Amino acid sequence: MSQQKSLIIANWKMKLGLNQALDLAKSLKAVEALGKEIVICPSFASLFPVSQVLKNTELKLGAQDIFWEASGAYTGEVSASELRDVGCQFVIIGHSERRKYLSETDEIVHKKVKAALAADLVPIICVGETFDQRQAGAADYVLIQQVTKALEGIDLRPDQPVVVAYEPVWVIGTGQAIDPPQAGHVHQVIRQTLIDLFPLELVKNSFRIIYGGSVDRSNVSDFTNLENTSGVLVGNASLEAAEFIDLIKNA
Ligand code: PEP
Repeated sequence: MSQQKSLIIANWKMKLGLNQALDLAKSLKAVEALGKEIVICPSFASLFPVSQVLKNTELKLGAQDIFWEASGAYTGEVSASELRDVGCQFVIIGHSERRKYLSETDEIVHKKVKAALAADLVPIICVGETFDQRQAGAADYVLIQQVTKALEGIDLRPDQPVVVAYEPVWVIGTGQAIDPPQAGHVHQVIRQTLIDLFPLELVKNSFRIIYGGSVDRSNVSDFTNLENTSGVLVGNASLEAAEFIDLIKNA
């Protein structure tokens, strides 16, 4: 991995109303000075208003999902160019909650990754095993499959960054993160999978592997200090300004 600022992504999910989202965005302006790359991912309804608060700051905006077609009769969906229009630079793709509740498959994730890259949005591709898959000893296999199916056959330009977020499904939202060495092992598996798919230079320069799942201010440095780890994806601990600011400081 090339040396870069720690990447810290806040996934606000469907947990904040517009006024709460605006208040939180305003109180996060202070983190600009902390020297980290921060991406805020509000719900679709809050994207544009939050973008106005983040304007002229170094904080970046991301969406929580995208549709794979460029435009057309797709009621309820949002295209890559619309995300760009409201100021997004990043987009979360294949979060386990979407895989679980919206039946998103690896094939859908692949199409969404292509749509994001075509619009020069940075995809944050979420991968992770369930508890049963880990218990069955299939975690590495599942992760290799998810990463491969998301990215296989994609023609990546050298100037297109991609983020792969390892999020063990069974620890998301539990308050109990995975043991950091276990995450370190998975990140090595992901990196090797990327090397099987792309030239080594591209893997080194374009890909960042991050960890997500019950990261908070007290454990964040256990993950950001891991080898092959460029940052964290944060759910619950990104919803409260003081907690998230401490987390950023400690990362
Ligand atoms: C997530 O859902 O992406 C996540 C990381 O959530 P939490 O930090 O709450 O586990």
